[in-house]
Parts: sequence; C-alpha cells; structure tokens
Amino acid sequence: MKFCVFCGSNFGVREEYRQAAVAMGKCLAGKGIGLVYGGGSVGLMGVTADAVLARGEEVVGVIPESMATREVAHQGLTELDVVRGMHPRKARMAELSAAFIAMPGGFGTFEELFEVITWSQLGFHAKPIGLLNVLGYFDPFLELVDQAVREGFIRPENRSLFEVAGTPEELLEKLGQRLPVEELRGIDLKEI
Ligand code: AMP
Repeated sequence: MKFCVFCGSNFGVREEYRQAAVAMGKCLAGKGIGLVYGGGSVGLMGVTADAVLARGEEVVGVIPESMATREVAHQGLTELDVVRGMHPRKARMAELSAAFIAMPGGFGTFEELFEVITWSQLGFHAKPIGLLNVLGYFDPFLELVDQAVREGFIRPENRSLFEVAGTPEELLEKLGQRLPVEELRGIDLKEI
C-alpha cells in the first residue's frame, strides 16, 4: 500500500517543516506504507522521499517528461514514472495511492489538494485525504472552508471530506480509520 504526499518544492522558512517531512516519511515507512509523490528531489518533497527510502520502503515518483529532463527529478527512487503531462501525472498519482496527504507547500500543493478534495466531493474517488497542519500552516485554509460553509458554498457534510492533524502519527491513524478493511492487510496504523 502507498500513500500520496503533496508538499512544497521549497523548504519553507522554519526548520519544523523539514522535521515534519522527515517525521512523515519515517512514520509511513515504519508502518510499511510506501510513498507516491511528484518525483522531485527538491524541498520538502525530496526530504520526504529520502526519509521513506532510508527506511527501506518504496517510493514512486510521477513526473511529467518536461520536468524529468531537468535536474529536479530524484535519481534514487524505487521507480520514476515519466508521464506525458500534468493531467496524466495526477491521474497516475491517484491510481497508485490508497490515500492522500498534504503537508505545507505552495500553489502546486494547494492545487493538488484542492483537486483530490473536489474529486472526492464529486464521488470520483473515496480515498481518505489528510492535512498535516504543521505549526497551524493550514489554519487560514480551514477558516476559508468554514466561511464557505457558512456562506452556503460548501455543504456542511463536505467539511468532513478531509482529516486534519498536527502529527504524522495522529494523521495516519485518522486516515487508517477511513481506509477500506482490505487495504489494511495487517497494517496497524495505531502502532508506530
Ligand atoms: P509547490 O507547493 O508549489 O512547491 O509545488 C509542490 C507540488 O507540486 C508537489 O507536490 C509536486 O507534485 C509538484 N511540483 C512542484 N514543483 C515540482 C518539482 N520541481 N518537481 C516535481 N514536482 C513538483
């Protein structure tokens, strides 16, 4: 089983972001869960991939050919899927993953997160989605969602299309509770 992680191609200005990316990688690998991600070696993306690889779990990068030719592609992955463009990339990342996690990042991360939430809202998938809210990074987003609910643009029940947690352990436990039983195959998401 693999989880897809969306996160910054930059490190952010606080050391805690890098620490959280390492912790997320460790936590996934510690539970025998592999990583699917954007295939870059840069920023929090590279940190997360390295943390999973260092613990012997599989990491699959999915990258468009236009980006793979540049130095950004991580050269040490279990598998690097080079796809034709951004749309096939996202479809492939979704296909390979049992759940989605967003960590701090910028426009790329936001776009990926919004898309999987939207697809879930429309019923195109039912995979769990979680936000790792490091240092309250996503608080303004959560406030925006609450405002959209109050103002009648998001249905109240759709507020629960994603989970939020401050630590990888807590987030994986919450996502695990939403996974279909057959996906778990002996993996105990409460154990670290
Ligand atoms: P951002 O949050 O704007 O830094 O973008 C990060 C997200 O967009 C990641 O989850 C990736 O899937 C994708 N992405 C952005 N930049 C790169 C890159 N240099 N290499 C691979 N993927 C990237």
